[in-house]
Amino acid sequence: KAKDTGRDAIKFFDASIQQALTQRNVIESALKRAEALQQFHLCYQPQMDARGKLIGAEALLRWTKEDGTSVPPSVFIPVAEDCGLIESIGAWVIKAACSQLVQWQMQLLPPNVHIAINVSAKQFTHVNFVSELLMTLSVTGADPHRLKIELTESAILQDIRAAREKILRLKAAGIQFSLDDFGTGYSSLAYLKQLPVDQLKIDQSFVRDIHSDESDAAIVQAILAICESLNIEAIAEGVETREQLQFLLKHGCRRFQGYLLGRPVSAEQFVERYLLPRTNKKRSR
Ligand code: C2E
Ligand code: MG
Ligand code: MG
Ligand code: MG
Repeated sequence: KAKDTGRDAIKFFDASIQQALTQRNVIESALKRAEALQQFHLCYQPQMDARGKLIGAEALLRWTKEDGTSVPPSVFIPVAEDCGLIESIGAWVIKAACSQLVQWQMQLLPPNVHIAINVSAKQFTHVNFVSELLMTLSVTGADPHRLKIELTESAILQDIRAAREKILRLKAAGIQFSLDDFGTGYSSLAYLKQLPVDQLKIDQSFVRDIHSDESDAAIVQAILAICESLNIEAIAEGVETREQLQFLLKHGCRRFQGYLLGRPVSAEQFVERYLLPRTNKKRSR
C-alpha cells in the first residue's frame, strides 16, 4: 500500500514537473515573438515624498498577448532570464523608458523627478551593459540625471568589484542607483558599504505586516537606521494603507511607493494624473 502511494506521488510529481516545463516552453516561444509583435509596453507607478509630491516614476514592464491576456513580469522575467531573452527585452525596456523620458523631460517632468527602470542581474552583468546604456542615452537624448536604475542584490553579489566599477562609470554620467527588494536577498552590510548606491528600496514583504509583525517593524526600522547612517535614501515599496504610511513616517521614512499613493498606470494616464497641473485638469473638464 505504501509503495502504491509512493508511486502515485512520483507520478504526480512527474506530471507537475512536466506541466511546469510545458508552461515554460509555451511562455518562451511566445516571448520570443512578443517584441516583434509589439506586445510589450511600460506602465509607470508614482513615487512620492512625505508631502505627497511626485519624486519619481518606476517603469514596469507589461506583456499583453494577442488574445488580450497578460502575463505578469513575475512569471515571464524569470523565463526570459533562463532562456537568454532578458538582454534583448531589457534593451527594449531601456529604449522605451528613454524615449518616454525624452517626451516628458522638456516640459512635463518637474525638476528632480526621475524615471526608474528595473535591470535584471543577467542584464547588468553582461559585458556590454554600460556601453549600450550610454549609447541609448546619447541616441535618444534622454537626460541621464533623470534616470535611476533599480538593481537587486543578486545583480551585485556575483562580482562586487565589477558591479562597483559599472555603477561608478554610470554614476559619472549622472545616473542614479537604487537597491531593489532590499533585505530579501543576501544583504550584507560589508558590501553595502562598498557600493555607491543612492537609495535602498525597503521590500514590500516587510511593509505588509509592519503593524502586526514585530520583527518586520524592527527590520524596517533597522533599514531606515542604516540608510541614515550611510547617508543613503530610503524608499518604502508596497505601501497600501494609511497605517503603514503613518508608521513609516513616524520612523523617519520620507519616500513612498505603493497602491495607496498610486497604482502602475499607462504613460497617458500618468501624464493626466501626475504631470499635468491641477488647474489645467479642472479647466479641461
Ligand atoms: P519590483 O521592481 O519590486 O516592482 C514592484 C512590484 O510591486 C510591481 O509589480 C508593482 O506593480 C508592485 N506593487 C507596487 N505597489 C504595490 C502595492 O502597494 N502592493 C502590492 N501588493 N504590490 C505593489 P509588477 O509590475 O508585477 O513587477 C514585478 C517584478 O517584476 C518587479 O518587482 C521587477 O522585479 C520585475 N520587473 C518589472 N518590470 C521589469 C523590467 O522592465 N525589467 C526587469 N528586469 N524586471 C522587471
Ligand atoms: Mg523595482
Ligand atoms: Mg521591489
Ligand atoms: Mg519586487
